[in-house]
Amino acid sequence: MIRTLAVLIAMATSSLPAADAARVILLGTGTPIPDPCCSGPAVAVVANNLAYLFDAGPGVVRRAEAAAEKFGIAALDATRLTRLFFTHLHSDHTLGLADLILTPWILERPTPLTLYGPRGLRAMSDHLVAAYADDIRVRTTGGEPKHQYDPRLVTVHEIEPGAIYRDDRVTVTAFAVSHGAWEQAFGYRFQTPDRTIVISGDTGPASHIEDQCRRCDVLVHEVYSDAGFAKRPPEWQAYHARYHTSARQLGAIAARAQPKLLVLYHQLIWSSTEEELLKEVRSTYDGKVESAHDLEVF
Ligand SMILES: [Zn+2]
Ligand SMILES: [Zn+2]
Repeated sequence: MIRTLAVLIAMATSSLPAADAARVILLGTGTPIPDPCCSGPAVAVVANNLAYLFDAGPGVVRRAEAAAEKFGIAALDATRLTRLFFTHLHSDHTLGLADLILTPWILERPTPLTLYGPRGLRAMSDHLVAAYADDIRVRTTGGEPKHQYDPRLVTVHEIEPGAIYRDDRVTVTAFAVSHGAWEQAFGYRFQTPDRTIVISGDTGPASHIEDQCRRCDVLVHEVYSDAGFAKRPPEWQAYHARYHTSARQLGAIAARAQPKLLVLYHQLIWSSTEEELLKEVRSTYDGKVESAHDLEVF
């Protein structure tokens, strides 16, 4: 009885989702810096046995396979990766797109990929498919067993802010964020009956993320270390301040947004440390916060 009560209390206070609720899996927490710890930015949300990917940094397909194996999540098998939402078209977030178009196709994925994202995504997808014309020709006519479809068939939706995707249990809403010179950059709000998850993408501090979160279950947000920033050359400081969000700024945003859990990703730490980064966030925020690593689930 006491144990049951303890379990119930633990369940009530834990920010971990119930077994069948939407789960956030950090496939890649990296940045353009090719640190071997961290695959390129890519977040998977798994709900109702379906995978919804947000961004495709380098390594995305292998990390999805690793997560499928580590957590026993069949929806992250490469052949089941069919929906992808791009926050913006910076290379660190898109270098895995050719991989997602071609690798699951070779593995006999039954349906082509569907993409959502900013203007320019259609051209990027078309150019990638064109760049691999010889590979596709040799694979389709050179003796490989017959494939399920023509890999040049990629469905692309160039979106505007608003509810851009719906199925039985899921609504995905895109919202505009401010990311330096990018004309279009999006964050996403992912809603199921059980959970609301907000993903910032890359953003400066003035994107009103708190209006999208409002006590959401999980806020996955990019961040850079204030201490690391202080030691960067002035020209890079000007760039980072325009494109990204400092730890102290993020703490203030989270204090307004009040997520049940704040998850840091795309951490630019430079010469500082993860402990220092968390301290900086906590200097302006007293809620629950985790600094994510690749292949962690929230
Ligand atoms: Zn980035
Ligand atoms: Zn970016």
